[in-house]
Amino acid sequence: MGSIPKNFHAGVVLGAPGVREKSVTTISKNGVTDFMLSIISEKEETKEPFYVLDLGEVTALMDKWTLTLPMVRPFYAVKCNPDPALLGSLAALGSNFDCASRAEIESVLSLGVSPNRIIYANPCKQESHIKYAASVGVNLTTFDAEEELDKIRKWHPKCALLIRIKAPDDSGARCPLGTKYGSLPEEVTPLLQAAQTARLNVVGVSFHIGSGATHSQAYKGAIASAKSVFDAAGRLGMSRMKILNIGGGFTAGSQFDEAATAIKSALQAYFTSEPGLTVISEPGRFFSDSAFTLATTIIGKRVRGDLREYWINDGIYGSMNCILYDHATITCTPLACNSNRANPTCKGFRTYSSTVFGPTCDALDTVLTGHQLPELQVNDWLVFPNMGAYTVAAGSSFNGFNTAAILTHLASSNMN
Ligand code: PLP
Repeated sequence: MGSIPKNFHAGVVLGAPGVREKSVTTISKNGVTDFMLSIISEKEETKEPFYVLDLGEVTALMDKWTLTLPMVRPFYAVKCNPDPALLGSLAALGSNFDCASRAEIESVLSLGVSPNRIIYANPCKQESHIKYAASVGVNLTTFDAEEELDKIRKWHPKCALLIRIKAPDDSGARCPLGTKYGSLPEEVTPLLQAAQTARLNVVGVSFHIGSGATHSQAYKGAIASAKSVFDAAGRLGMSRMKILNIGGGFTAGSQFDEAATAIKSALQAYFTSEPGLTVISEPGRFFSDSAFTLATTIIGKRVRGDLREYWINDGIYGSMNCILYDHATITCTPLACNSNRANPTCKGFRTYSSTVFGPTCDALDTVLTGHQLPELQVNDWLVFPNMGAYTVAAGSSFNGFNTAAILTHLASSNMN
């Protein structure tokens, strides 16, 4: 795998436009707070929310992946966080990409990434997007229905295909995907026959055990099912399948180690007799979640007895949509630059049960309740760690608070 140049910004590395903050600041491993303080002092006037993307964390995650699962090539799932600086740094580190739409393919290609590093991993695609993929040379996609085969035959007949199967167990996932995607065991042979009849080239199998998976053993069952599809293809006299796509479901931390152990033992059990097999994956959450920290300003306050209520300038309709759509639990810490400049993290201060509201006029826009915070004031800041996965990607501009306008600043924790 590659490395991120010291003077990295995506525009320099790969000729892409669109990265909004161009310098990389080197910080100590735990220095995101200090880095945020330096940005906040520069932004005294605007008080707009911002993200810090820690490039050192992205590099460390890629190192962790390469050391732990060297036999599995990652295709970063762009849907999880399409920030151009993140995409650029992952491209520089040698990642490939999972795109689900024309716009995602365009954003990856605009970084100078070759189309053969992209999988169009959406089993149900708009015809015009298939046509576009064909025109730019994205030649690998997934399917799980005969109707999809008809569209591919019409618009991109040379495309290599992976049959997406339903993972047998996605019950431990925060966001299971099996009710929407993946062919059932009894559908596999008819689908492979339909592909044969249409003279389409099915080169492998793909599955996803669900995003935010907690049952790492689910990879085992899914890999066993994938093997039975390889065998079914053999019985139909199809050319030998050569790609196994184990999807996403990875979370940085101990879950990743458990997942890796389950995957390696399942590959050993089921796929040693498949020479020349390429194993790929589509991690999104793994590479983005812990790499982004969000800073928001307190724009309003109300005191009700012992309860403190704060309004901030990002919320449920913005980055914190992850609470609704991704079933995320989030947390925050104070940066009291206004009221406690000498001790901005408020170490040792008395805390109060606090509610944190987002900025829109909807009462649903409530970010945290019963959260312990020190006494803070308007223009202090609240900092939210682990905000990279399924946050900005699905934010809106409801009520005029535009998530897409939130700037990303680049920092590096271990690239001295
Ligand atoms: N690949 C596909 C096809 C997906 O639908 C998703 C998420 O929904 C991902 C990859 C990313 O998976 P994860 O969120 O587990 O990283």
